[in-house]
Amino acid sequence: MTEQPSNNFDAIVVGAGFAGLYMTHKFKKQGLKVKTFEAGKDVGGTWYWNRYPGARCDVESWEYSFGFSTELEQEWTWSERYSAQPEILNYLKHVSEKFELREHISFNTKVTSGKFNEKTTKWEIATDSKNIYTAKYFVMATGCLSSTNIPKFDGLDNFTGQTFHTGNWPHEPVSFKDKVVGVIGTGSSSIQATPIIAQEAKHLYVFQRTPNWSIPANNEPLTKAKSDEIKSKYQELRKFQLKLPLAAQKAPNRQSAFDVNDQTRLETYEKFWEIGGLSFLGAFRDIPTNPDANATAKEFIINKLKKVIKNERLLEKLVPDHHVGCKRPCSDTGYYETFNRANVELIDSRDEQINSFTSTGIATTAKEYQLDAVVFATGFDAMTGSLDKVNIVGKNGLKLKDKWEEGPKTYLGVGTAGFPNFFIITGPGSPSVLANMVVGIEHHVNWIGDCVEHIERNGFKNIEVLKDAEEDWVAHVNEVANRTLYTTCNNWYLGSNIPGKPRVFMPYIGGFPKYAEKVKAIVESGYKGFAFS
Ligand code: FAD
Ligand code: NAP
Repeated sequence: MTEQPSNNFDAIVVGAGFAGLYMTHKFKKQGLKVKTFEAGKDVGGTWYWNRYPGARCDVESWEYSFGFSTELEQEWTWSERYSAQPEILNYLKHVSEKFELREHISFNTKVTSGKFNEKTTKWEIATDSKNIYTAKYFVMATGCLSSTNIPKFDGLDNFTGQTFHTGNWPHEPVSFKDKVVGVIGTGSSSIQATPIIAQEAKHLYVFQRTPNWSIPANNEPLTKAKSDEIKSKYQELRKFQLKLPLAAQKAPNRQSAFDVNDQTRLETYEKFWEIGGLSFLGAFRDIPTNPDANATAKEFIINKLKKVIKNERLLEKLVPDHHVGCKRPCSDTGYYETFNRANVELIDSRDEQINSFTSTGIATTAKEYQLDAVVFATGFDAMTGSLDKVNIVGKNGLKLKDKWEEGPKTYLGVGTAGFPNFFIITGPGSPSVLANMVVGIEHHVNWIGDCVEHIERNGFKNIEVLKDAEEDWVAHVNEVANRTLYTTCNNWYLGSNIPGKPRVFMPYIGGFPKYAEKVKAIVESGYKGFAFS
């Protein structure tokens, strides 16, 4: 195929969510000729696709927003402590317009492959519109939670009712009025959607394979006074945020659960419960690492649950067996209360498991449920799913998918050996999903931007990850994970929600500040672990 001059770019970015938008802006500002491809019809990524009822952030809105532009910070006003999907989507639309990014983005376009040409040292990138583009730099901003997972249930194709996945929700309004609905899954998406669907549906069955821990979000409107206060000290707040392990939430308590007496422990839990949501995990430093400390958190939550769920059998079903935090905890508004409604039933896999779909519903090992609609709140092929779907081929014909057959291998979660000038934003091996993702995204985009500037200033052709550095980093990521309780259950951090996926802990659990320190030291040492040519 003859290459069109217009198909030749300095940088190609895949995805137009938080990551792709900021990367496009950064490259544009650096004077690079940048092209961005997005499979969706518009910007937004997660917030474009996840339009299910109740979808909202669980990191406070002001924290879950860009810090790179003071002007943007000052002109945008969040309406709630945890804003809902339409507002976050509007924010990202605003970002794309304010920084004139749309002209660089091709929507409705899926990148299908990216091949490194060793002769030209350029990437050749193909899309589903059958065009080939070339670029010196190839950046995947394809998201950690963007490849939806619909389990292969027997008979699903025969089901004649409506089906939805929370991560690919229709753009038109969906009504469950007078309908019998089944929700499969009890992770964060289900926990947000279930209370709202329950209010509308005639009857709702929630099919639970594993219960999860959830803490009330304590969401509230963001008053003008509070919003003004945040705006008046944004810089200070952002600096503080970068020092927190999750790069968000309230400052965690550095004490062990056993540094204090029973009374103080209870009071501390109560204080963190009142803050609400994921901050609860910061009540004591050893909740994620010490089973006994974790047990005290469990006991506290169960006592809270007992106040909402009076039916003992139901309570038993809703209480998880795993350590608090092992599966990503949820942040809810009225989730447990929903099960006290007369039109809601919990179908627990410890009593009966889903066998198959029939033409009119779901058959479990106990009985058949007649359903008008099924909502798959069954999550994502996290962290590697969207990367695996693109045929990425590096040096010597090495396919990324083959290289990662036994689990993803990266250096710092941003690059991988054998793939020159190829970057992943919040890739496996970075804090990514274990911290405020917008902070992680900004950090990576800034790093990639600076690195590209370094390459250009020095007249280099390529940057490449060194194999030894990568191996050491992967070992470190695993070693840190193994010090925690997060590897003791089945969770999507380990890929165990996807049959056949290797069981490898994918994100870096050392906390955002430690990660950022390590990255800074590597750059200051002259990009140790990378080779330039
Ligand atoms: P995404 O927003 O996932 O965007 C990736 C984009 O790439 C998508 O639009 C996709 O269509 C596109 N794409 C993928 N492959 C291709 C391809 N081959 N060709 C073209 N385009 C492609 N994180 C938090 O920190 N706090 C929260 O409160 C929070 N809430 C969340 C709520 C939900 C419902 C979900 C699902 C996730 C949430 N997350 C949260 C994680 C969230 O994914 C990130 O915060 C962030 O939005 C990720 O941005 P991104 O740009 O990296 O990826
Ligand atoms: P998830 O946490 O992976 O939950 C999926 C649910 O589906 C789990 O309960 C899982 O059960 C169940 N499931 C999967 N396959 C099944 C099968 N074959 N049969 C029966 N049940 C099955 O997915 P999610 O709820 O979409 O959340 C994913 C992540 O996105 C979150 O952890 C979070 O990071 C982010 N998110 C955040 C928010 C927010 O509050 N801001 C909201 C939504 C999502 P098992 O546990 O047994 O696997």
